[in-house]
Amino acid sequence: MDKYEKVIELAKRRGFLWNSFELYGGAAGFYDYGPLGSTLKRRIEQIWRDLYVIHEGFMEIETPTIGIEDVFVASGHVGGFSDPLCECKKCGEAFRADHLVDNIVEVADALSNTELDTIIKDNDIKCPECGGDLGDAYEFNLMFQTAIGPGGGRPGYMRPETAQGMFVNFQRLLKFYRDKLPFGVTQIGKSYRNEISPRQGVIRLREFTQAEAEIFIDPRDKTHPNIERFADTPLNLYSQEGQERGTVEQITIGDALKQGIIAHEFLAYHIALTNHFLQRVGISPEHLRFRQHKKDEMAHYAIDCWDAEIETDRFGWIEVVGIADRTDFDLNAHAKTSKTELSVYIEYDEPKMVTSFVVKPNMGKLGPIFKGKAKVIADALKAMTQEELEHDEIKVVMDGEEFVVPSDLVEFAEETVKVSGENIVPHVIEPSFGIDRILYCTMEHAFNEEMVKAQEGKDEENGNEPEEESRVVFKLKSEVAPVQVAVLPLITKSELITPAKDIVALIRNRGLLVSYDDSGTIGRRYRRNDEIGTPYSITIDYESLDDKSVTIRDRDSMSQVRAPIKDIENVIYSLVYEGKKFRTAGTLVQ
Ligand code: AMP
Repeated sequence: MDKYEKVIELAKRRGFLWNSFELYGGAAGFYDYGPLGSTLKRRIEQIWRDLYVIHEGFMEIETPTIGIEDVFVASGHVGGFSDPLCECKKCGEAFRADHLVDNIVEVADALSNTELDTIIKDNDIKCPECGGDLGDAYEFNLMFQTAIGPGGGRPGYMRPETAQGMFVNFQRLLKFYRDKLPFGVTQIGKSYRNEISPRQGVIRLREFTQAEAEIFIDPRDKTHPNIERFADTPLNLYSQEGQERGTVEQITIGDALKQGIIAHEFLAYHIALTNHFLQRVGISPEHLRFRQHKKDEMAHYAIDCWDAEIETDRFGWIEVVGIADRTDFDLNAHAKTSKTELSVYIEYDEPKMVTSFVVKPNMGKLGPIFKGKAKVIADALKAMTQEELEHDEIKVVMDGEEFVVPSDLVEFAEETVKVSGENIVPHVIEPSFGIDRILYCTMEHAFNEEMVKAQEGKDEENGNEPEEESRVVFKLKSEVAPVQVAVLPLITKSELITPAKDIVALIRNRGLLVSYDDSGTIGRRYRRNDEIGTPYSITIDYESLDDKSVTIRDRDSMSQVRAPIKDIENVIYSLVYEGKKFRTAGTLVQ
């Protein structure tokens, strides 16, 4: 079994996640989260909220998961959100054409379908399922289409990202933020993509959870007020040049900015915040890198894009977050389709005197002469230059037809007016997180198999030299662990069960997730909790009845300390959330 199989086997067996619709044979690209998986996912989302909503102040909104067609026509998804599909001529199985060649070329998803066909033919690539010949690649739109309302209704689409719900609400959100830039909005929710052949578990799903932030900034000022917070943070950067050389460079955010590797401070801040989040949920820094999009891979409108990539045992480096400066593309696209101005009025510090050339056609005189055409002729005159207007007879050509306008029907002059501000279309910085991928990577990085002394506790009592056995332990960060503490009476006797249940109640009242377990030997119960990543276990024994204290066991070191029952809930809380250290010496220290 490779690590992926081991993690998924454990995840299924212990109630983290499994394929959906198992009862009916399943369907690729859908996963259910069980009791522990859902809790783990919520905890990861909660940390994201803590950083983005609470600390950055980017308020969360919630918009429908079904969108109307106009939205996705404007965003470009109806026209261009597709992957190259290639079918086997023999068995009919469908494949992502770029995935079939991705060990031959480096950035396979930047290739055209014709290029993909050539590579497939030149390398004699056959159907991975049956060895049959493959047909030509063609574009397959990834959106799930539906109909809104009965009788065919109005076309609708399951949203392929949460972002559009934030762009289309720009005007209301701008008002909410009192017409000031910068401001940010977030959304955590389901997105849907009809992926061609999802064969990678939760890495590629047809329904998955995204956490996205859209941060609207003034395009003239992309500095960040808190960049100093991360200036010395080292990151593994796989820049465009690094990719040419094949080297990942460890460099601080400050130096990356100085050397012009990252386009600007605002983007750099959000790359660093992403790094902070991923490490806080438990991604190991040595398996985390930030890869800059190559020029031929980057969207034409974007200024700079970086993907956070995590290294996994089976799939190699996978993209888990995209962080991009999307410029004014999205707002302009929606402004054009909805015929509504989506901009911010920005007042200057000091009003400016602005001189401009103003043309005033005399409609009272143009009307009787040019009748129905008067309005368009007037508009054409307004767009003319001083040189074009300085004639006794002004010639206006429209659709090949020439109109002659006597000069006394138009007045024009340079005018200087006081202007106190201007309308600006904000630029958007977008960090887009895939929660399911992050959750899987968190589990894989936390998964450990190690040799430990056999039957913890028992051999020490017997005074024997403990034998070795292997244990599986999920070294999840305490903050994300779905069960934060297990309460275990040493033996199943009512004298110990009652105080143990009292402790469960105390800890629950502190808002922590506790499991109570009194079945099997204490060693087996420790192992069960190691396997699901419970960071602390509390054991109640006969001594507890006399000295009013319990044993707390630390999952990773397996060391134990004695701690008083009084205040136990606060001790556990501070171990889980406040970084209180666990020490073997028998006392708990800050
Ligand atoms: P994108 O909009 O394609 O840049 O996606 C943003 C993030 O969503 C990616 O970095 C992934 O983490 C996640 N994501 C995209 N597609 C899928 C998928 N099919 N299954 C799971 N996560 C996905």
